[in-house]
Amino acid sequence: MRATVMHAAGDVRIEDIPDPSIVEPTDAVLRVTRACICGSDLWPYASMEPSETGQSMGHEAIGVVEAVGSDVSAVHPGDLVVMPFAFSDGTCAFCHEGLSTACVHVGFFGNAGVNGAQAEALRVPYADGTLFKLPVGEDDDELMPSLLTLSDVMGTGHHAAVVAGVTPGKAAAVVGDGAVGLCGVIAAKRLGAEQIIIMGRHEDRIALAREFGATDVVSDRGAEAVERVRELTGGYGAHSVLECVGLEQSELTAIEIARPGGAVGRVGVPQEEKMPASQPAFYNNVTVGGGPAPVRAYIDELLPDILDGRIEPGKVFDRTVGLDGVPDGYRAMAVRESIKVMVRP
Ligand SMILES: [Zn+2]
Repeated sequence: MRATVMHAAGDVRIEDIPDPSIVEPTDAVLRVTRACICGSDLWPYASMEPSETGQSMGHEAIGVVEAVGSDVSAVHPGDLVVMPFAFSDGTCAFCHEGLSTACVHVGFFGNAGVNGAQAEALRVPYADGTLFKLPVGEDDDELMPSLLTLSDVMGTGHHAAVVAGVTPGKAAAVVGDGAVGLCGVIAAKRLGAEQIIIMGRHEDRIALAREFGATDVVSDRGAEAVERVRELTGGYGAHSVLECVGLEQSELTAIEIARPGGAVGRVGVPQEEKMPASQPAFYNNVTVGGGPAPVRAYIDELLPDILDGRIEPGKVFDRTVGLDGVPDGYRAMAVRESIKVMVRP
C-alpha cells in the first residue's frame, strides 16, 4: 500500500510500504478515508535532518475498521471511526481522568514503530481506547471535514480554551491564525467569550476567524501587539489567552497580553526548551498551562455541536488532495498558500 514518508526537510515522498496487519490482540487495522496535513508536520518539513529510512507521516484520520484483534470489542469491521492523534488504552488512571495523552500506553501515530495516517491504511494500537465510532455513514461528505478535525485541531483548540479558563462574558485572545488558532476561536466562542481577539496577519485566515466569531484582529507583533491588545481590553489584557504557535516570541506575547490573574493555555508545540516571561507571569499571577490535547476525551462533548451544525471547524480545510498531491500539500501549507490540506487516499 502507499504511504507518506518524509526523508528530509522539504522532501516528502509517497512510497510503497507493507500492508498493515494485526500485531497485538488490542490492535485494529484502519482503512483511511480522510486524513490531513497538520501545522505540526511543518516543523520537520522545515528542519528535518536527512534520514535513509525516513519518517512516516500523518496523525489525523477518519477511516473504516478493516480488521480487529481478539481483545477488541468496542469497534468492529465496517465501523466508521475517527482516530485521535495519540493512541491510548482507555483503561488507565490518566485515561479515566480524561488525560488520554498521558496514558501509560500512550503513543503518537507516525512514531516508534507505528505508521502515520497519510496513507491508505494503518495499524491502530489500543483500538478500544483510541478509536471513536461515528454515528454517520462514509458517504456523509458534508460533515466529514468537521468530523476530521476531532482527530486533532478542534480538540486542540478546545483544550487551549479550557486550560485558558475561557468564561462567559470575558475576553479571550488567540495567538496564531493556523488551523488550531482558528479552532481556538470557535472554542472560545462556544464557551461564551464575549470578546475574541485573533492575533495573525494572513487575510484569508483572519476572514475565517471573523466568521468563526473573532471580534477584533491584531496584526502587529511583539511590543506593538501587546500594546494593541491592552488597548482593546480597557488597558487590562485578556482573561484567557490561547497560545497556538509554540515559538518563543508567541509564548512571550501570550503571557504579556494576559490580564493579571488570567491564564494562558498552550497547545503550540514548543520549539524551545525554556519558556519565556517567567517573571511577568509570576508578578501578574498568570497561570500558564496546557500541553498535548487529550482530544479523545473531548469528542463526546464536541461531536453533537458538529452533527447539529452549531460549529463548522471543517472550514479550515481549503484544499483536498489525493496521496499523490500530499508533497505539494506540504509545500502549499509551508508557504501559507493553504490553511489546511485534506487528504483522500
Ligand atoms: Zn490510558
